[in-house]
Amino acid sequence: MIAEVVINRSAKRLNRTFDYNIPKKLEPLIMVGSTVLVPFGKGTNLAQGYVISLKENTEYEVKDIVEIKHNLSQNQIELAKWMAKRYFCNLSDCIKQMLQPGTKNKNEQKNVQDKIINVVYLKKTPDEIQFDIDIGKIKSEKQKKILQFIESNEGATIPEIEIFTTGTRGIVKTLEKNGYIEIIEKKIERNPLANKCVNKTNNLKLTEEQQIAYDSIKQDIEENKFERFLLYGVTGSGKTEVYLQLIKKALEIGKTAIVLVPEISLTPQMLDRFISRFGKEEIAVLHSKLSIGERYDEWNRIKEKKARIIIGARSAIFAPIENIGIIIIDEEHDTSYKSESIPKYDAKEIAKKIAQENNCPLVLGSATPDLVTYYNAKQGKIRLLELSKRANNSKLPNVEVVDMKMELANGNRSMLSVSLYNAIENNLKQKKQTILFLNRRGYSTFIMCRECGYTVKCKNCNISMTYHRAENKLKCHYCGYEENVVTICPNCHSTKIRYFGTGTQKLEQEIHKLFPQASTIRMDIDTVTKKNSHEEILNKFKNENIDILIGTQMVVKGHHFPNVTLVGVVAADSSLNIDDYRANERTFQILTQVAGRAGREQLEGQVIIQTYNPDNFSIICAKEQNYNMFYDTEIVLRKQLNYPPFCDIILIGFNSLSENEILEATKTVYKYLKEKLNEQEFTILKPMPSPIDRIQNRYRWRIIIKGNMTNEANIILNNCLKEIYEANFKNTRISIDINPNNLS
Ligand code: ADP
Ligand code: ZN
Ligand code: ZN
Repeated sequence: MIAEVVINRSAKRLNRTFDYNIPKKLEPLIMVGSTVLVPFGKGTNLAQGYVISLKENTEYEVKDIVEIKHNLSQNQIELAKWMAKRYFCNLSDCIKQMLQPGTKNKNEQKNVQDKIINVVYLKKTPDEIQFDIDIGKIKSEKQKKILQFIESNEGATIPEIEIFTTGTRGIVKTLEKNGYIEIIEKKIERNPLANKCVNKTNNLKLTEEQQIAYDSIKQDIEENKFERFLLYGVTGSGKTEVYLQLIKKALEIGKTAIVLVPEISLTPQMLDRFISRFGKEEIAVLHSKLSIGERYDEWNRIKEKKARIIIGARSAIFAPIENIGIIIIDEEHDTSYKSESIPKYDAKEIAKKIAQENNCPLVLGSATPDLVTYYNAKQGKIRLLELSKRANNSKLPNVEVVDMKMELANGNRSMLSVSLYNAIENNLKQKKQTILFLNRRGYSTFIMCRECGYTVKCKNCNISMTYHRAENKLKCHYCGYEENVVTICPNCHSTKIRYFGTGTQKLEQEIHKLFPQASTIRMDIDTVTKKNSHEEILNKFKNENIDILIGTQMVVKGHHFPNVTLVGVVAADSSLNIDDYRANERTFQILTQVAGRAGREQLEGQVIIQTYNPDNFSIICAKEQNYNMFYDTEIVLRKQLNYPPFCDIILIGFNSLSENEILEATKTVYKYLKEKLNEQEFTILKPMPSPIDRIQNRYRWRIIIKGNMTNEANIILNNCLKEIYEANFKNTRISIDINPNNLS
C-alpha cells in the first residue's frame, strides 16, 4: 500500500503530495487523516506529514513511513482540502489548524507549573522569519523548528518548547537575543474554570419574540436540518438567553454545540452565564491566551466527549467535536472571525460548511449585523429572526451628537465640547462612572513642520510616526520602530515643529488637567500588555469604582458596567476617514456598540458623540439607534459602487525587497488575469502601490478585483499563483485574500 503525503512545511513549492510506502505493520493503523513521520530531504531527517489519500501502487521509488502519530477524520481532511483551494494556501497550513495543540506530548501527563511562568511569543512576523530562513540568515534546523512551533503555539513555555521540539533553553535564548522572539512573564491558571464557583441558573421564561426565535431554531435541531438564521436584536434584547436554551435542547437530545465569540469578549463574566446554566464540566474553552497545556487538555476533554459545549474564539471552529446540534456565532459582524494570517479563512464560511455536514442550524447573532449577512437575510438565503425590545425593559440610552465645528466657532479649542464637559462634571458629582472612547492611541498622531510642511515618517514604512509622551519617543505603529523627538526640522532647520491630532495619552492628560479630582484608567494597546490583560483593567475599573475609563475600541465589547451612565465618543470621525468601502458600516457599528455600554441596568444612560460630520448618515443612524435606516442608505451606495454584497473583493497583495521585481510580478499577474477572467464579470483594477506602500523596507503593491469568487475564478487564480511562482519571482511574495478586513 502507498500513501500520498503532504509535508508540513509552508514553502509554496512543497504544496503537493509525495508518495510513501506503508510498511506491513502500519497498514492496519493508517488511514486518510493520519499524521505520520517520514524521511524527507537530505540525510536522515524526519518530517511530519499528513496522509491525504491511499492507493495500490506508485511509479516512483519510495521510502517507508516511519511512524504514525494520530489521526484526523476524513471529514477534516476534506474540509482542509476545500480550504486550501478557497483561501489559496498550502494544504498543510489548513490541516495544522485541526491538530491538537502540542500533540507530541506522548504520555499526556500534565506539566505542573508555577503561578508565574515565562511564555514565549514571536517578535517578528512569520513572513519575516520565513524570509530570513530563505536567505539563509537562520540556518539551524533546531532554531527553525522552535520558530515554527512558536508560530502555531504563541505563549508556549520554555519547558513546553523543550518537550515538543527537542530544542533547548539555550537555543530559545539565542533566538531571543537575535530578536526573533520575546520571553515574557505571565501568571497562569492551569484550568481557566477550575476555581469558579457560580450559582446555578435556570431557563428564564422567554418573551414572545424570544419564544418565536427559539421555536424556529429548535425545530431544525430536532429535525437534523441545516439552515442559517440571523438573530438580530439590540444589545440586551436577550439573544444570549435564547442561545442558552437552544444549547440545552441540543444536549437533551444527545447532541453537542459550538459557540464562537470575538476573542476580546471571552471574559469570565461572559463564561459565567454558560457555566451557571450548564456547569463547568460540560464546557470546553478555547482561545489563544491559554497555555498549550491548557489547550491540550481542553482538546482531550472534547475528544473524550466529556465536554459537549465548546466556547471559543475563531479557531475553535476546528475543534474535534462530533454530532453537532447547533453552531452559534455571536456578534457575527465582528472582524475577528476573518483570519488575516495564513490560512486567511472566514470562520463564518467554515461554520456553514460544518453545519451543513452535521445537518444542524447555524445561528448568527448581532445587534448590528454585517451588511452582507443582512442582505442575504433579505434575499431569503438566511432566515431572519428579530428581537426588537430589551428583555429586562431597561431603556436605550439617550444619544446627543455635538458638532465640533460649532464648538470651534464658539471659541472652544478644547478636546471636550461644553456638553461633554458638563456631563462628565455632573457624573463625577453623582459618583457615577464614565467611559471616554477615542480610537487612536499614543499622544499626538503626526508631527509637522509649520514652516515647510515636513512630516516625520517611519524610515521603514513610509507612514507618520506617532508621539508617545510617556517614553518621550516617536513610534511607528506598523513596525514598532522608535525615534527620538525632533525639535528642529531636519528639512528647513526651523523650530516650528508642531504636534497634531489627539491620541488616548493626550486625552488622559487633558482629563487630569480639567478634572484633577477624578481617577482615571486607560486601556489601549500600550497599556494592555500580555501581562496586564484587558480583563484586568476592566475589572479594576469596575471593582475599584474608578471614575473614568479612557480607551480605544477595546472598551467597546463584552462587559456590563452597571454604574456607567455616561459614554463620550471624543472623535467619531476617525473611523469615517479610513480608506475602505466599509468606513460607514464600521462607524455605525462602533458607535452603536459604544452607546450600548451606557445604562444597561436600572440607571438611565447618556451618550455624547462629538464629530466634525454631524450630517453623515452613519452618525445620524447611530444616534437614532436605527439599523434599518442605516442599512437602507448604505445598501444603495454599495449597489451603485459595486461593492459587497454585490460582489466579492479579491485582494492580491505583493511585497518584495526589490522594487524592479515587484513591478515585473504585478504586471505579469495583471496581464494573466486580464486574459483569463471574463471582462463582463470581473473588474480588475490596475496594479497600484498599497496605501501603505512600504513596511519594514518591503515594497507593497496590490491588485484589486471585483467580481464573484466562483469556482472557475478560483481555479484561474490558483493557476496564476502556480505559474507566477514557476515564473520564479524569488524575492516577491504574493498572497490572495477574499474580502479582507483591511485593504491597506
Ligand atoms: P443580549 O445577549 O441580546 O445582549 P442578554 O441575553 O444578555 O441580551 O439579556 C440582557 C439581560 O436581560 C440579561 O440580564 C438577561 O438575564 C435578561 N433577560 C434575557 N431574557 C430574559 C427574559 N426572558 N426574562 C427576563 N430577563 C431576561
Ligand atoms: Zn521645515
Ligand atoms: Zn515602521
